[in-house]
Amino acid sequence: MSAHPERLTLALQKSGRLAERSLELVREAGLSVVKSANELFFRVENYPVDLLRVRDDDIPTLVGDNVADLGVIGLNVLAEQSHGSGQRAEIVMPLGFGRCDLKIAIPESMEYGGIAALTGRRIATSYPNLLRKFLEERDIAAEIVEMRGAVEVAPRLKLAHAICDVVSTGATLEANGLRAVETVLKSEAVLVRSPVAPADIVKHLLDIVVERFRGVTASRGAKYVMMNAPRAMLGRISEILPGADAPTVVPLVGHDEMVAVHAVCQESVFWETLEQLKAVGASAILVLPIEKML
Ligand code: ATP
Ligand code: ZN
Repeated sequence: MSAHPERLTLALQKSGRLAERSLELVREAGLSVVKSANELFFRVENYPVDLLRVRDDDIPTLVGDNVADLGVIGLNVLAEQSHGSGQRAEIVMPLGFGRCDLKIAIPESMEYGGIAALTGRRIATSYPNLLRKFLEERDIAAEIVEMRGAVEVAPRLKLAHAICDVVSTGATLEANGLRAVETVLKSEAVLVRSPVAPADIVKHLLDIVVERFRGVTASRGAKYVMMNAPRAMLGRISEILPGADAPTVVPLVGHDEMVAVHAVCQESVFWETLEQLKAVGASAILVLPIEKML
């Protein structure tokens, strides 16, 4: 049962690595969040939306059980919890932030000639389901030691030979004398929705919010590129522009051989790209940020 049947409820991590970016996504989608003393809920001023602020681990259940209509959660947590029975939150789309990998790491001193080196070893993790599946698929019989936190200290405490944990930069592993040897899962934050369709009044709003999130996510990193270029080089220019489909070509008055090219590039536009464009005759190249995209 939804917490407020006539309002859209969005479950977000209250504090932690996903909290700030989740709130930013909501704001960029045009929802004005009113921070309040209420620990559990933040209200949105301009739409009937409530933000339910909880621990990330509770989000798959809250959305799966339809207490919240939407949620933002790391794929690592969602996938780990997707093993049990019960209603499941459904993935709507990846959100492009909170990137990290679930990796198996071993002490630097341990020899490693391949995954068979883990046979008969003890591996500490907070992700027993994902690790079990990974090992089973590779026919490796190892012992899984479940830990809630501070998994990276397990080898030093002689609790385990190896660990399986989420890492982004690898600094924590290094600080603990560990090195990553296997990737179990590549993760990022994902938008999830309840498997239960909301009431009609909320459904319309949910569709709008999802489309806006899609627009915010798609426009992030995207650039609008403009330049003047020789008409004869249009084919080459399209090849150089990263992730651009069908650039707009505009004639330049009084310059039959030249055209203006406008394109939306979905991927990063590097200096090298601009230099390549210049090399094939482009000039007056401008790269502009895109604020919104629909
Ligand atoms: P909570 O108090 O809400 O339970 P937590 O301590 O379980 O928080 P955080 O450390 O805030 O979780 O991480 C939340 C999510 O951020 C992770 O599940 C993962 O998806 C993502 N993440 C991104 N980078 C990292 C990283 N370097 N280490 C761990 N998680 C990361
Ligand atoms: Zn957590």
